[in-house]
Amino acid sequence: MNVEIDSLYQGMMDRLSDLRRERSGYEEVLCFYAEVLAAQRAAQQDMVVAEPDLPEENTRLRVREGFPLIAREGFPVDIKGAELLFGKLCRISQKGNPLLASAGKALQDAVDRQEFNFAQLISATLTEKTGDIKALADGAGVSPTILCALGRWSMQPSLFAVAVALAGEPLLDDWQRGHCPICGAFPAMAAFVGKEGKRWALCSFCGHVWRLNRVGCPFCGAENHKGLRYFYAEGEEVYRVYVCDHCTAYLKVMDTRKQGNLQALPVDDVATAHLDLLAEGEGYVRKAPGVMPMKIENC
Ligand SMILES: [Zn+2]
Ligand SMILES: [Zn+2]
Repeated sequence: MNVEIDSLYQGMMDRLSDLRRERSGYEEVLCFYAEVLAAQRAAQQDMVVAEPDLPEENTRLRVREGFPLIAREGFPVDIKGAELLFGKLCRISQKGNPLLASAGKALQDAVDRQEFNFAQLISATLTEKTGDIKALADGAGVSPTILCALGRWSMQPSLFAVAVALAGEPLLDDWQRGHCPICGAFPAMAAFVGKEGKRWALCSFCGHVWRLNRVGCPFCGAENHKGLRYFYAEGEEVYRVYVCDHCTAYLKVMDTRKQGNLQALPVDDVATAHLDLLAEGEGYVRKAPGVMPMKIENC
């Protein structure tokens, strides 16, 4: 067991309990996410993930040129551990809404009949080959969105292990780009942290957190305030939605000086889906999926 990863899961579970008390409208999705987190936390205790070996010279060059440390297809994943977790998540899904429940059942049946190629799902999810995910989903008779989510949740403990192992890399200290220095994905969400309210991003893929520039759009790099503004929902000043008219992206940002913490941000992302709807209603686009990359009730 990796104590650091275990405490990250514990932090998310604590935050989730707080949000469940405060946000009754999110009870169903948070209750489901609590089970996903508990399964991921249990799974990470037995996971074996090879620590990536990055030659220093190559790392220095990649960081200088703005390339992520690891190409997505090269991410080390404990396939066996992820497959066991996938089975558990299929069972958990059967307690969810009817669509999730039937997908969980269909996938579990396909696994039991040895008709589901899990390694292919991992490969397609890592490389975001949507055509391959759709083919696998069609074969099992389930929604590609649900299958993709289950694939990502199954890999999450492995991805976290890599992100945690590389987070202390000193060469990353000055990285303030809009994409993740470890895997290259865009932020799922961001937070203001510390007395000065420095802006930190949460990676939508590996879960790493990194410093962003104080201003500007992380997606297109625009710094001209003319097309950049934010809004918040009444009575909910802890979350701001920053929108960019240059690229039509939006980014939810939590002020951890008021509530919550950076490490538990995935949970706040799930519990602020109403802000995604508001931003999308104004014509802005979410550039990177959240932990719960689907509106479960609609998928
Ligand atoms: Zn990442
Ligand atoms: Zn932009």
